[in-house]
Amino acid sequence: MTQSYNKPIPVPQGESDYYWEKAKQHELWLRQCNACGKAYFYPRDISPCCFSRDTGWVQASGNATLYTYGIVERPPHRGFAEDTPYVTAIVELEEGPRMPTNIVMAEPTPEKLQIGMALKVVFEDISDTIALPKFEPA
Ligand SMILES: [Zn+2]
Repeated sequence: MTQSYNKPIPVPQGESDYYWEKAKQHELWLRQCNACGKAYFYPRDISPCCFSRDTGWVQASGNATLYTYGIVERPPHRGFAEDTPYVTAIVELEEGPRMPTNIVMAEPTPEKLQIGMALKVVFEDISDTIALPKFEPA
C-alpha cells in the first residue's frame, strides 16, 4: 500500500458494499440471480438477466480468460503516469460475467497478451478499506 496513492478511488455504496468488503479480504464475490442461476457483474440488487429481485452472492473462483484489452501508453490522469505502459482489459470470469480490470505484468506487449489466455485474480491494497481486483497470467 502506498501513502501517496493519487488515483481516483472507488466509493463503495449500498449494493456494492459487500463486494468491496470481500475484496478487502482478497476474495472476489459476484451477485447471482436465484431465479435463473446466472452470476453477473457489476453488483446490483436486480438481476440483469431476468430482472429478478431474488438475488444473492456467490464467491468467484478467481479464474478468468482474457476477453479484450488495451495497452495504455498515455495516462488518462496524472495519477497513472508512473504506471504506463499498463493494461486495461475485460476478462471473462469462469462463472460467466465479464468485468473491467487491469492485467498485471511487467512490460506488457501484444505478444504476451493472447485473447483467451488463462488469468487469475490478484488484489492490490490501495487504501485501508479498498483492494482492487486485478488479474495476472495463470
Ligand atoms: Zn435471472
